[in-house]
Amino acid sequence: MSRGRKCFCGLLVAVRTSWTHKNLGRRFKAYKFYKFGTRHTGCNYFEWVDEEILDWQRDVTNVLIAEKHRLATDLRLVQAKLECTENLKRSLSQQLDNIEKKKWKQNEFIARQQNEQISVVVAACIVVSVVVSVVVVKLIG
Ligand SMILES: [Zn+2]
Repeated sequence: MSRGRKCFCGLLVAVRTSWTHKNLGRRFKAYKFYKFGTRHTGCNYFEWVDEEILDWQRDVTNVLIAEKHRLATDLRLVQAKLECTENLKRSLSQQLDNIEKKKWKQNEFIARQQNEQISVVVAACIVVSVVVSVVVVKLIG
């Protein structure tokens, strides 16, 4: 590779890679601002770097590119599913929080009711014991 090669207008040439079907992945040297497939070819300086691609190389490259696109699609699907799962997880976590809060409130309510019941039983016991004491005192004395 001759570094410092200049095109017809004296600019350093750029090594680029062709992505056309016929010359897939084949590198070439051209005018610095050369745009493939357009008329912007500058001074028309053009030179292949790589040898012509063989059919099997082109086939393999095409298969690999197709595979790459398939994998990219798969990746997007997996990412979408992951995002969906994350949303579900957040929603479930929120629901769980709400359930925990309800449970906590119910436990508080039950504890308060039990305290009230105990108070009623204690009060009843006091009344009964006073009545029994009065009766006993009257019977004995
Ligand atoms: Zn030029």
